Amino acid sequence: MDWRELQDAVAGCTACKLAPTRTKTVFGVGDEKANWLFVGEAPGRDEDLEGEPFVGQAGKLLDSMLAALNMKRGENVYIANMLRCRPPKNRDPQADEVSCCEPYLHRQIALIQPKLIVALGKVAAVNLLKRDMTVASMRGKLFEYQGTPLIVTYHPAYLLRSLTEKARAWEDLCFARAKMRELTGNG
Ligand code: URA
Repeated sequence: MDWRELQDAVAGCTACKLAPTRTKTVFGVGDEKANWLFVGEAPGRDEDLEGEPFVGQAGKLLDSMLAALNMKRGENVYIANMLRCRPPKNRDPQADEVSCCEPYLHRQIALIQPKLIVALGKVAAVNLLKRDMTVASMRGKLFEYQGTPLIVTYHPAYLLRSLTEKARAWEDLCFARAKMRELTGNG
């Protein structure tokens, strides 16, 4: 599937039980040739209404985190989620929903060919890495998702509630930036 076919497939997807309750599907947004891929959990209320990932409060924090790295949504950055439809009342994604939606993420990754994936929060990390660990134990390490280097950090929504973890998230982003420099031979 090319981008257009993939977007159409997601827009019309009825593969799981979230389809009837969504307003809009949330495909993903950004530079289709980005080196950086950020993967969150699932759309929330704002994203479900707008059809774009991370547009609510957590998204504003994500944008500030990108700005701190001199990066911008859409410029060498692609943002996606494990799920493309909002779970009711923002509950955690369920295993069957993740398995229905993951092929879309695979195809996005194959098309983008990012150099580095940043998993935002436990739900993304656990589902991508298929291992049940805490973010605290996964951060600061380099993993792989189907051959693409992956690092884990806290979810921006969690950082909004837990200001003390913000400094750790900044360390993670610096770690990610250093890895990106190694991977691209840049800097
Ligand atoms: N939280 C997520 O994980 N993804 C979004 O798109 C918005 C909030």
